[in-house]
Amino acid sequence: MTELTMSGVVKSFGRTPVLRGVDLRVPAGGITAILGPSGCGKSTLLRLIAGFADPDSGTITFGGRTAFADGRSIPPQRRRVGYVPQEGALFPHRTVAENITFGLTRHARRAGHRLTELLDLVGLDHELASRYPHELSGGQQQRVALARALAPAPAVVLLDEPFSALDAGLREGTRRAVLSALRAAGATAVLVTHDQAEALSLADEVAVMRAGRLVQLAAPATLYRLPRDADVARFVGEAV
Ligand code: ADP
Ligand code: MG
Repeated sequence: MTELTMSGVVKSFGRTPVLRGVDLRVPAGGITAILGPSGCGKSTLLRLIAGFADPDSGTITFGGRTAFADGRSIPPQRRRVGYVPQEGALFPHRTVAENITFGLTRHARRAGHRLTELLDLVGLDHELASRYPHELSGGQQQRVALARALAPAPAVVLLDEPFSALDAGLREGTRRAVLSALRAAGATAVLVTHDQAEALSLADEVAVMRAGRLVQLAAPATLYRLPRDADVARFVGEAV
């Protein structure tokens, strides 16, 4: 089943075209990586999916329902997406518990069990619930950001370079925790990265992006064996 589609999506800032006609299909469940060099339009793509900005033209659908078409747009809060920005995701003056339950109804927040469920899901010690973001490591902060994004049980989770601000020592453990949380939640995830090795090792499907276009969408093994052109072969090959 297809969870998310984009077709013919075009976006410019002023006169600068950033997305030049993107076609994307994200299957339900599993992780799709958007892989491309800095500046190719990855974050813009993610923001259009979230509904923080709208395409100039093209269509976006979730679960077969139109989210954007012909200038008509469903607002972000009704798209059932969770969003994990690159860094600085957390409210600094709120505790971990308050950050995680921010998007929940008052009723669900009071119930409390959703908080412990989410802490367990992302592998965070319950004792951290009363701490503030600055008292956590970067990896722990990213797990809190993921827990917050997963709290309302979104249909799709969007992650923008979630590990790139972490130093190498924290990156591997955080990757593993995030990956297992996404799998356990059964979420459909779209993960943006400029890191070839990360995309190829984490994702079920990799969409290779270049200068505002998706040039190939395939499973990691297929990208290795059957790269669409020499550029893709070279770019993917840099991972090894
Ligand atoms: P990536 O995430 O792949 O590094 P971005 O989507 O952030 O790329 O940016 C792609 C291009 O669009 C860049 O040239 C960037 O400067 C430009 N851009 C992104 N957002 C804006 C904006 N709000 N206004 C003007 N230009 C933007
Ligand atoms: Mg970016």
